[in-house]
Amino acid sequence: MAAPEIRIVGGGLAGCEAALQLARRGRSSTLYEMRPTVPTPAHRSGCLAELVCSNSLKSADPATASGLLKEELDRLGCELLPIARACAVPAGAALAVDRERFAAAVEARIAAEPLITVRREEVGRLEAAPGRWWILASGPLTSPALQDQIGALTGQGGLHFFDAIAPTVTRDSLDLGRLYRASRYAKGEADYLNAALDEGEYRAFREALVAAERIPVKDFDRADLFEGCQPIEEIAESGPQSLCFGPLRPVGLNLPDGRRAHAVVQLRQENAAGTLWGLVGFQTRLRWGDQERVFRMIPGLERAEFVRLGQMHRNFYVDSPRVLRPDFALRAEPAVRLAGQITGVEGYVESIAGGLVTAWHLDAALAGRRLPPWPYTTIIGALHHGFLFDDTAPRLAPMNANFGLLPELDQPVKGKRERKLAQRERALADLEFFLRLVAEDAGAVSAAAETEYPGEE
Ligand SMILES: Cc1cc2nc3c(=O)[nH]c(=O)nc-3n(C[C@H](O)[C@H](O)[C@H](O)COP(=O)(O)OP(=O)(O)OC[C@H]3O[C@@H](n4cnc5c(N)ncnc54)[C@H](O)[C@@H]3O)c2cc1C
Repeated sequence: MAAPEIRIVGGGLAGCEAALQLARRGRSSTLYEMRPTVPTPAHRSGCLAELVCSNSLKSADPATASGLLKEELDRLGCELLPIARACAVPAGAALAVDRERFAAAVEARIAAEPLITVRREEVGRLEAAPGRWWILASGPLTSPALQDQIGALTGQGGLHFFDAIAPTVTRDSLDLGRLYRASRYAKGEADYLNAALDEGEYRAFREALVAAERIPVKDFDRADLFEGCQPIEEIAESGPQSLCFGPLRPVGLNLPDGRRAHAVVQLRQENAAGTLWGLVGFQTRLRWGDQERVFRMIPGLERAEFVRLGQMHRNFYVDSPRVLRPDFALRAEPAVRLAGQITGVEGYVESIAGGLVTAWHLDAALAGRRLPPWPYTTIIGALHHGFLFDDTAPRLAPMNANFGLLPELDQPVKGKRERKLAQRERALADLEFFLRLVAEDAGAVSAAAETEYPGEE
């Protein structure tokens, strides 16, 4: 029998992870990436696995959902996370990377893999052929032609939400005498640069933020904003002190003399050299001139040089509960599978996880078997198999990793952190069981025989 022809569309986080997972299983694939020939509204380079906004892959703390997802991915043999760690920059309890180094390292890893062929071209049509399989990992900024193709195949136009990018400044342009180093609650090695605002400075900053001009965005509706990516001006507008409970929260970031500031702006290192710093939580859609003017009101940023300014984007995704089978195949065309943010998950690590999951399902299908059910007690199972296929809501709203996705513990545990650690322990034990079932092929086959995917003949 001829080897299957696997075409992966999108050399982002999900697409690269999927290609590497398939290669690890001896399966060859062609990875199509349209950049640099065809740009997206947010990517800035032609590199594979470019992180479009923050350089943070979020917390690695074991008692966070993001930390648990990372541990699960490590146990599943994720390819991109170890690369991220090798490109890490100091960021307290978070895993943040030097964006360019990370992209270059992923490119190098893919280039060194003989089973992966990279083609720099846009895929606008999904031509069917015997033995051909597609993984669409084209992300939130899927090109319009491909969006139309997906719409035609699913009979639905697709869904969207909005989120925004935060600005980046150069270290040389900062007044380091006014900024102080600290990590919240002294976690890590005082990795962040912090700008303290007293009450008067805060009030003036907030007023300027709310009054500044915003860029009108086509089809923008506030209801379509992703919760975790509220533009800073929208947060400021929601109440006089709302920023102090959000991105400018001073708690755990006392000044070097021990006093607590009224508000604190944090800057996170963006590259290994420490020459670029991002304003944490400053996603915005203010006009560019207004961004520079207002953000220079932050003490220490008076002469800040902005190498990147904030922008807002429309993110495309599909209504997974209604258009996908639980193995991420389109109900209408099972040779086409989806992975990453396009399925309705949100976040870098979640998208990496999506690439891994879809590749595992496809590999199993090509071997004539089905994976055992992913445990809902794990973040990966709860997000990619519970949440994404829950059809009780009329419309899927994108989600990132969080403990709210996990079922309650059988025995109550006192203390928030202790409870999360107990959920983590349960998740990892169940994941080990799942991995044992996967390893025992026979177990996987019998589990497969018990389930029928909706929409399947
Ligand atoms: C503006 C913005 C800011 C974001 N900020 C953050 C953040 O700070 N933190 C966070 O955790 N997540 C963030 N996200 C969310 C998201 O998780 C990331 O976008 C993540 O990169 C998605 O991974 P992916 O692999 O699904 O898609 P991507 O990483 O976007 O990869 C998709 C790739 O497909 C390519 N492509 C698209 N269409 C075609 C086509 N027709 N043919 C060939 N190639 C194609 C694109 O060029 C791209 O390289 C942000 C998203 C956006 C849009």
